[in-house]
Amino acid sequence: MFLKSLTLKGFKSFADATNMHLEPGVTVVVGPNGSGKSNVVDAIAWVLGAQAPKSVRSQKMDDVIFAGTEKRPALGRAEVGLTLDNTSGLLPVEFNEVTITRVLFRSGDSEYMINGAPCRLLDIQELLSDAGVGRQQHVIVSQGQIDAVLNARPEDRRGIIEEAAGVLKFRRRKEKAERRLDATEANLLRLQDLLREVR
Ligand code: ATP
Repeated sequence: MFLKSLTLKGFKSFADATNMHLEPGVTVVVGPNGSGKSNVVDAIAWVLGAQAPKSVRSQKMDDVIFAGTEKRPALGRAEVGLTLDNTSGLLPVEFNEVTITRVLFRSGDSEYMINGAPCRLLDIQELLSDAGVGRQQHVIVSQGQIDAVLNARPEDRRGIIEEAAGVLKFRRRKEKAERRLDATEANLLRLQDLLREVR
């Protein structure tokens, strides 16, 4: 699986629709200071579902919407689309290409899409976690994160590895199922008490 293309529109410094085609292998983004190189990485983190403004180097989430310049007014929405090559079938869908789209409006409303079909953030998270791209997004490793991984407690480091390996999703589902089992058991006990009272 590799990133095939990235489309930005109204995201940070990319006011105009910008499409980047990527090839398998290493891609290097070059440009002068402040030209928007890191904004490209932020866009990838964002479309993959980043929820904390900090994770895209912002104070608040609507900071990702083009804020305007001396010559151009601010925009009302940011949109990023990321197309993943899925010929390997790593993502559990039958398409050879999967495009994930995220849109944010200044009103705070947001939209998510998979191959153009509206969906929930959860659908995107579940889809990606099968490919080891989890909520913590260890596919994007910043310098600070390398320090954090090296200094992490063993159990936290295990969580990072589990997330990257796609195991964490099953652990979360197991925990959820156990909570439901506990709740059902509590309901059963209560029912038995009620039956005893009625008899
Ligand atoms: P460096 O090489 O110094 O790390 P860079 O190429 O990685 O720089 P970025 O940090 O990606 O640069 O981009 C910074 C630029 O993006 C700044 O000029 C900033 O004004 C602009 N920018 C960030 N957010 C917005 C926004 N919401 N609207 C308009 N411009 C924005």
